[in-house]
Amino acid sequence: MGRTKSRTKKMLWRFWGYLVLAAAVYVWLGNDTNIVVALSLSALSLLYMLFAAPMWCMAPNTTNGKPCSNNAHGLLIGCWIRKHKWEKLKMVFRRQRWAELCRRSWSSIGAQAATVGAVGSFASAVAATITLIIKA
Ligand SMILES: [Zn+2]
Repeated sequence: MGRTKSRTKKMLWRFWGYLVLAAAVYVWLGNDTNIVVALSLSALSLLYMLFAAPMWCMAPNTTNGKPCSNNAHGLLIGCWIRKHKWEKLKMVFRRQRWAELCRRSWSSIGAQAATVGAVGSFASAVAATITLIIKA
C-alpha cells in the first residue's frame, strides 16, 4: 500500500505541469474567475511543457539512423547527450527548421501531450492577458 502511494506521488511530481493546467481550466470555469491566478497557472504550465514535461528526445541519431529515445525534458530541451540538449531550442531561432521541430514534437506520446498542453496553456495565458488589459 505504502509503495503504491509513493509511486503515485512520484508520478504526480513528474506530471505536475498537467495538474497546474487542469487547475487553470478549473479557475476559468469557476463563477468568479481570478484572472491573475489563471494567468499565473497558465504561464507556469506553459513553462513546464517547454522545459520539464517528460518525453523522448527524438533527435536524429547519426549512429543507427533511429531517433534518440533517451528521456528528455520539455518540448525544447533534449536528453543528456550534449549535442542533443540544446538542439531543439536552437531550432526555435531558425525559421527554416520549424517544420522539423513540429514534426519532432509530434512524434511521441509524451511530446504530443506536452504540445497540446503548451498550446492550451498558451491560449489560456493570452486570454487571461487580454482580459486583464480590457478590465484595467
Ligand atoms: Zn538525445
